Amino acid sequence: MTRPPGLWRDTCAEPCDGSALHGNITTDVAIVGGGFTGLSTALHLAQTGCDVQVVEAGEIGTGASGRNVGLVNAGLWLPPHKIRARLGDGIGDNLVRLLGDAPAQVFDLIEQHQMHCEPVRAGTIHVASTPQQLDDLRNRAAMWQNLKAPVTLLSAEQTQHRTGSPHFIGGLFDARAGTVQPLGYARGLARAATAAGAQISTHSRVTTITRDHDNWQLTTPTGTLTANRVVIATNALTGPLWPGLDRCQSQISYFQLATEPLGERAAHVLPGGEGIWDCGTIMISLRRDQAGRIILGSMGRIIETGRLSQRWANRTLARLLPDLGAVNWQQAWHGPIGTTPDKLPRIVQLDDNVYAPFGYNGRGIAPGTAMGAALAGFLSGTGNLPLPLTPPQPLRAPKLYARSLDVALLAHKVLRTIV
Ligand SMILES: Cc1cc2nc3c(=O)[nH]c(=O)nc-3n(C[C@H](O)[C@H](O)[C@H](O)COP(=O)(O)OP(=O)(O)OC[C@H]3O[C@@H](n4cnc5c(N)ncnc54)[C@H](O)[C@@H]3O)c2cc1C
Repeated sequence: MTRPPGLWRDTCAEPCDGSALHGNITTDVAIVGGGFTGLSTALHLAQTGCDVQVVEAGEIGTGASGRNVGLVNAGLWLPPHKIRARLGDGIGDNLVRLLGDAPAQVFDLIEQHQMHCEPVRAGTIHVASTPQQLDDLRNRAAMWQNLKAPVTLLSAEQTQHRTGSPHFIGGLFDARAGTVQPLGYARGLARAATAAGAQISTHSRVTTITRDHDNWQLTTPTGTLTANRVVIATNALTGPLWPGLDRCQSQISYFQLATEPLGERAAHVLPGGEGIWDCGTIMISLRRDQAGRIILGSMGRIIETGRLSQRWANRTLARLLPDLGAVNWQQAWHGPIGTTPDKLPRIVQLDDNVYAPFGYNGRGIAPGTAMGAALAGFLSGTGNLPLPLTPPQPLRAPKLYARSLDVALLAHKVLRTIV
């Protein structure tokens, strides 16, 4: 993975800037990884006057940030009461508040820095297809409403009207949320960080991080970077960079397919511009982009030419949007979502002045942005972290688990195309 996928690259109005790190550079804070987390950390640190350098292995947004659906959701996958139960009232409440406000933080940054990333602040809808799923949404609605969040439970009729699909029996509308062109947002963050004084090098994979007296030395194929503090924002793409870090979370693959622009024939699909995702164990997402393409996604990978995924997508679209008719799928891609066993994010302290934030469990646009801003506050001494720093806790066999999951998801996809 060295480039973001074709659709987001082809339709990105933000320029793709960046060149490799050359020579021996010294900085205050080195950030490994040019996704939402690393770039938000860089932007907010640079705004405090701190000397900061981002080093990215590929292009900006090569990882999950430039591959994602673009749903800017509030909160985590876990509902607020479970976050509180797992973290305790004080930390739990703070995290729920931070992440509930995080979509506003994203849209404010987009506005402030005039990022060209197709922002649509029209909310998102979590949709239900079964009575049990609707009960879950009813509970989530009650919890968020207790916290005075602008969420509304939609009736079957309202959901059908707003999605264009007769398939759903209800939905939870969240007015805080919205959609973006994710690569545009990542590149926009990079542009804003650079304007604030951060240095960004691309196509520069960090191969080693070693101690150099009180500092750390990061080596890339064409240069070295010496820094007092290091943020490893490589998330699910960490690889062997720091011993054991890649074992602190597992992965789920998520794939997407995009149609050609569909014009008037898809005008009834999500006419208000919301993005949706469902309550299924094997989740499905659906949104439109600015050009009128439908982008359909689910858990799993695109294998070989993607023909199996196209068959799956045809069947799924016929089920969700029976009035639409046949479509032409033009793009297909997948990416890794980092997951933790308790579904909570972490900020791990790996050594003196070396930190790694990760584990958004599929909710990285707003949480990655908020986590980066909070980390910048912590590193510059102007703010606190939303979570306690924890030591790394490697899982037993995360890669085996991820591979087994991929096989199970592939089997499910095959079944879905024949049953
Ligand atoms: C297909 C898909 C759909 C998703 N949809 C949504 C969604 O709709 N809404 C949402 O909120 N979240 C979504 N997510 C989750 C979200 O995209 C992630 O949580 C988020 O992008 C994580 O950002 P990050 O900056 O932490 O990591 P990443 O974006 O993965 O960035 C890590 C970067 O580190 C770089 N890197 C790795 N190793 C090195 C090294 N040794 N040297 C230098 N650089 C290195 C990688 O190239 C990569 O660019 C989705 C994820 C996927 C994969």
